[in-house]
Amino acid sequence: MQTIDHGSHADIRDAVRALCAEFPAEYHRKVDEERAYPEKFVDALTKAGWMAALIPEEYGGSGLGLTEASVIMEEINRAGGNSGACHGQMYNMGTLLRHGSEEQRKRYLPKIAEGKLRLQSMGVTEPTAGTDTTSIKTVAVRKGDRYVINGQKVWISRVQHSDLMILLARTTPIDQVAKKSEGLSIFLVDLHEAQKKGMSVKPIVNMVNHETNELFFDDLEIPVENLIGEEGKGFKYILTGLNAERTLIAAECIGDGYWFIDKVTAYTKDRKVFGRPIGQNQGVQFPIAESFIEVEAANLMRYEACRLYDAHQPCGAQANMAKYLAAKASWEAANACIQFHGGFGFAAEYDVERKFRETRLYQVAPISTNLILSYVAEHMLGLPKSY
Ligand SMILES: Cc1cc2nc3c(=O)[nH]c(=O)nc-3n(C[C@H](O)[C@H](O)[C@H](O)COP(=O)(O)OP(=O)(O)OC[C@H]3O[C@@H](n4cnc5c(N)ncnc54)[C@H](O)[C@@H]3O)c2cc1C
Repeated sequence: MQTIDHGSHADIRDAVRALCAEFPAEYHRKVDEERAYPEKFVDALTKAGWMAALIPEEYGGSGLGLTEASVIMEEINRAGGNSGACHGQMYNMGTLLRHGSEEQRKRYLPKIAEGKLRLQSMGVTEPTAGTDTTSIKTVAVRKGDRYVINGQKVWISRVQHSDLMILLARTTPIDQVAKKSEGLSIFLVDLHEAQKKGMSVKPIVNMVNHETNELFFDDLEIPVENLIGEEGKGFKYILTGLNAERTLIAAECIGDGYWFIDKVTAYTKDRKVFGRPIGQNQGVQFPIAESFIEVEAANLMRYEACRLYDAHQPCGAQANMAKYLAAKASWEAANACIQFHGGFGFAAEYDVERKFRETRLYQVAPISTNLILSYVAEHMLGLPKSY
């Protein structure tokens, strides 16, 4: 496949590809069938230092930017894996790095870099609030040197494969703040301690093999020093993580898009029906070519979002647009791939149906396409807020 050259990163790509080659399609298929966690794969990524890409060198990481992190995630998906098992550490890192105190950075980052701790979870979504994040009901009330947390979260991923979670909770009641986005705070939660002291976890069986859970907080006490940044500014801080998350997921969708296009191109060149390769038909070629164009275009927006994020410039619009374009492109590529595999697209051994399910998630999570369109309409086009 002849893709546009978006800059080097050749060393990172080659190294991640070599590691991924040790975990072929059979590995990911088996993990999916068993609804297991790709423990060995994530361990190998951690040992090779890729999960510490964003941690500055002074804390034991590689000091790379979101651009490089996105290349790592892209390559995992392009190789047939699913970064959803481990991408949390990449997007949560920005929140801790940019808004955590020096004491918090010193306490956690070296251990994360060494692979002794995982920061894979972020608890934002709630069953009653949905996308309307500022109306969350989970509260954190300060009592002396502790915060007491009560409430509920839903769809919180990788809790059983993480040591730490970034949690968003309301610290000032909504009727006492000038703006709904004020009075929210973020905390670092020690997941092992929390499960002994008031947090319970209920796994949600879902369409993809994505470990995700309902969380219930019943008077969970966490130390005051686990507050990240200033109390009440959490919504602003969490956006750092959300912009990184959208950009990284755009890169994952781009990796998926290339995987589908590679797979369907190879298959349609080979598969002969009516005495010729099916890929000779324009009705087959065009949807594949169209999705390839869309993946390439999404890639440009992904690099722009990364560039702005790494330069500490506002990147909300670009992160959202990259995620929108990439999720749409990978979904179009997935549709073409399953369609032109005919019946074989539905057989697990071809991996198409697994990747098809996995990439479908990104039209809904971490933000739905509709909400991105609303964001663009309001913030970029100046149209009235629609919700
Ligand atoms: C597998 C999985 C893993 C996840 N992991 C995490 C995680 O680790 N941490 C976390 O905090 N969350 C996580 N989520 C939650 C995810 O971010 C939300 O599901 C997503 O943001 C959508 O929120 P919702 O499900 O409440 O949908 P809702 O807000 O109920 O919206 C449902 C649909 O309605 C439409 N809609 C809603 N409002 C509007 C509007 N104003 N205009 C137009 N259309 C609208 C959209 O199409 C949307 O898809 C995960 C979800 C899944 C499925």
